[in-house]
Amino acid sequence: MVNIPESDKKRIVIIGGGFAGLTLAQKCLKNDFQIVLIDKNNYHQFQPLFYQVAMCGLEPSSIAFPLRKMFQKKSNVFIRVTEVERIDVKAKQIHTTLGFVNYDFLVIATGADTNFYGNENIRKHAIPMKSVSEALSLRNSILEDYEKALTIPDFQARQEFLDIVIVGGGATGVEIAGALAEMKKYILPKDYPEMNVEEIDIYLIQSASRLLKTMSEKSSAKSEEFLQDFGVIIKKDVRVNDFDGSTVYMNNGETIPARKVIWAAGIKGNRIPGLPEEAKVKGGRIKVDNLNKVIGTNEVYAIGDVASMQTEALPYGHPQVAQVAIQQAKQLATNLKHLANNKPQKPFAYKDLGSMATIGRNRAVVDLPRFTFTGFFAWTVWLFVHLFQLIGVKNKIFVFINWIWNYFTYDQSLRLILTAEEKKNEPENPLSKED
Ligand SMILES: Cc1cc2nc3c(=O)[nH]c(=O)nc-3n(C[C@H](O)[C@H](O)[C@H](O)COP(=O)(O)OP(=O)(O)OC[C@H]3O[C@@H](n4cnc5c(N)ncnc54)[C@H](O)[C@@H]3O)c2cc1C
Repeated sequence: MVNIPESDKKRIVIIGGGFAGLTLAQKCLKNDFQIVLIDKNNYHQFQPLFYQVAMCGLEPSSIAFPLRKMFQKKSNVFIRVTEVERIDVKAKQIHTTLGFVNYDFLVIATGADTNFYGNENIRKHAIPMKSVSEALSLRNSILEDYEKALTIPDFQARQEFLDIVIVGGGATGVEIAGALAEMKKYILPKDYPEMNVEEIDIYLIQSASRLLKTMSEKSSAKSEEFLQDFGVIIKKDVRVNDFDGSTVYMNNGETIPARKVIWAAGIKGNRIPGLPEEAKVKGGRIKVDNLNKVIGTNEVYAIGDVASMQTEALPYGHPQVAQVAIQQAKQLATNLKHLANNKPQKPFAYKDLGSMATIGRNRAVVDLPRFTFTGFFAWTVWLFVHLFQLIGVKNKIFVFINWIWNYFTYDQSLRLILTAEEKKNEPENPLSKED
C-alpha cells in the first residue's frame, strides 16, 4: 500500500515530478504542509536536452536527476514511485498502482506525451522524443542502422537504413535536424570511413509554411538557412499521412524510403480520468481558472503542460514550455500558502522571457520580448540558459565538460549501442563450468 503517515498538517499531493511539480514541491517546503510527490519514474527529466542524448552528445544520467536526492533530509516530503490511474474528486482520493492516497489539495502536473493524432501505424513505427528512454532508443536505432547499412552492397536497399525523416518543424525537430546534420558532417566520416555519408539524407517535414512558427519570422528564416547550409532537406506545407516502418507517405503523394521517423509533430496532455466533463479540453489538457484551479472542482489544481488557462489573449491556453510550468508552480505555491493563512490569492500572469533554439555549433536563434538575435552569441546564450536550468551541480559540470570537449574535438564519445538484455531462464551450459 502507499503507506504515508497521517499528520495534523494539510496534505498536498503533487502528481508529476517535472518542471511544474518539482518547483511546486520545492517552493512549498518551508510551508506547514505535508507534501506527497508522486511520479511514475524515480527521476526528473530535463526534456530540452533529450535530443543530445539521442545524438550521442550526453549521457542520460547528465539530464536526469533522482527525485529522492532532491528532498534528502526533508521530513515533510514523501515520494512514491507509482502511476496515478484515477482521481476521485468526491472522496478526495487518487488511485495509483500501489493503492489510494487521500489529499487536502491535489495538484496535477503530469505534463504531456506524444500526440500521434490517432494514427496507429505512425504510433507503432515512429520514434517519439518524450522520455530519456525514447532518446536512448533513437540513439540505438541510428547506430544499429548504420552498422547494418555497411553490410548492404545495393544502393537502393541501403537507403532506408541511412535516411532519417524528422516530422515537425518546431524547436525539437529543428534541433534534432541540426544535431543529425552535424553528426553526418563531423563524426560519421571518421567512424565509418567505408560509408559514403553523402548517401545519408536528412528530411525535415513541416506542415506549416515556416519552421519555428511560434518564433519570429527572422528566427524562422535564419533557422531554415542554417539547416540548408548543413544539407537538410526541408519540406514545408506538407503533412506525413502514414508510415509503415519502411516508407513515409505524405499528403502531396510523395514518399520517402526510411526506417527512422522521428515524430516531433505534436503533444497531448496527460489527463487523468476522474475529472468533471467541463474540465476536459482539446489536446488532453485540463481547463483551469486564473488561479490554476481545475474547473468544476474544489482543492484540485493543474499546472504546466497539462493545464489550459484560457484567456482572451490566449484562447488555447499558454504555450507548453518550461517557463510557464515553473511560473505557474511558483504562483500556486504562494497561493496555497495564502489560502492556508486566509489571505487573498493572486491570479497567474505569465511573464514571457523569450524563446530559443539551437541548430548546431555556433548557430542558434533567440527571440527576446524586444529583439531577436542569431548566430554565435545566440548559441552561447542558449548554452548557458540550458546549463543554468539543469538540476544538480554534478550534472551542470558534466554537461559543461562534455560540451567543451565536443566543441574542440568535433567529437562525441557516447556512440554505444546499449540495449537491456532479457534475463535468460535456461539452465547454465555444463561445459561453461569446466574452467
Ligand atoms: C524534446 C523536447 C524539447 C523541449 N525543449 C524545450 C525548450 O527548449 N524550452 C522549453 O521551455 N521547453 C521545452 N520543452 C517543453 C518542456 O519540457 C515542457 O514544457 C515541460 O517539461 C513541462 O513541464 P511539466 O512539469 O508540465 O511536465 P513534465 O516535465 O513533462 O513532467 C511531467 C511528469 O509527470 C509524470 N507523470 C505523467 N503522468 C503520470 C501519472 N499518471 N502518474 C505519475 N506520474 C506521471 C511524468 O513521469 C513526468 O515526470 C521541450 C519538450 C520536449 C519533449
